[in-house]
Amino acid sequence: MPKLPRSLSRTLAAAGTLCALTVATAVPAFAAEPAPSTVEQDVTQLYQDVIDLYGGIPASARAGVDSLIDSPIDHIGRKQGNAKQAPAADCTEGSLLTYANQLASQLTPVEGQAFDALSALGQLYAQGVATDKQPQVFGTDGQYSSRATSAISKLRGFWDIESWNVQLVAWKGTDLGSPTKMAQTFGLGLAPARVKDAAALANKVLFELPVLQGGRNALLTLNAFSAPADSFGGKRVMLGDGILDVTNLLGFDDVAVEAVLGHEYGHQVDFAHDNFPRNESGEMGPDAYGGYFVAHAKGEAWDSRTQQEVTYLNASIGDCQHSHGTPDQRKAAGAWGEKQATGQANPNRIVPSATMITKFQKEYPKLVPPTAAQAALAHS
Ligand SMILES: [Zn+2]
Repeated sequence: MPKLPRSLSRTLAAAGTLCALTVATAVPAFAAEPAPSTVEQDVTQLYQDVIDLYGGIPASARAGVDSLIDSPIDHIGRKQGNAKQAPAADCTEGSLLTYANQLASQLTPVEGQAFDALSALGQLYAQGVATDKQPQVFGTDGQYSSRATSAISKLRGFWDIESWNVQLVAWKGTDLGSPTKMAQTFGLGLAPARVKDAAALANKVLFELPVLQGGRNALLTLNAFSAPADSFGGKRVMLGDGILDVTNLLGFDDVAVEAVLGHEYGHQVDFAHDNFPRNESGEMGPDAYGGYFVAHAKGEAWDSRTQQEVTYLNASIGDCQHSHGTPDQRKAAGAWGEKQATGQANPNRIVPSATMITKFQKEYPKLVPPTAAQAALAHS
């Protein structure tokens, strides 16, 4: 508190007990101004703004976007129709998912709502506004930019699909702090008269809740995505800073950028061939293609120890909900892909992508033994 001017102090001191009591009772009443409920109101309003934004974009424009994991965050705009199936037997969720769920479980309801809204908002920026015509910064501090640039360039040359128009963009929580970028994002679907206020509110909330760390909390961007040609924003891979932070924390730092991009680009391989499996092979296929890429002499050409680390990363994102494959299944899919590279008579030959898809679809039933329950679990 600023010091009172000397003369005023004297006057107050002389004013007697009654006045002092009045001041004393007035202070708590003033301090009890409802600051927390203001944050709640802000978050509630922002949440509604983001729901309305998503409501203003045709669902078909957002269809087909594939996420790396079922993140505990970011449910606005996502299909909620898939009732969770009974968990796979003898399955322990991967370490990365366990970690993410733990982080999310520590949030208060208001914080959770803010994460949902802001994560969904930032994701829409990455999909609908961001472009790799501007230099992209990967990792919260740009520490992964050169690796990401190098990996996408190798991937474009590796697979025989149309590649020049597959964009690679960074999904950054710190973009939420830019009112200009958020106004562009809200402009995608919110009523024009509301855009400016909504963008300002996103910025306000980002700094109002300390847990958001001004956009640097990994939970805001704890995922990676691949989007097909006919989705809005067109063909693109989006790589979240949060997934890079967390894979780093869990010890996968030296393989995460290339492995995750290898997987996401694998979705582009499937998209290019209209291969949209309605079972876990939709996720395990890209794990396998990614494995092939990291182990191949013309890909990353990683040694066996590093290849093994990739399969452990695959396992860390496995779930037990028949969604993306269990840890064991994802690990096996990645290892199968790696074996296709290391077992080739000519290490420099790259199997055509169409052939790789066929080979994996043949292998897939061995990785996931078909059961009656399995057949019923194909999700839309
Ligand atoms: Zn995926």
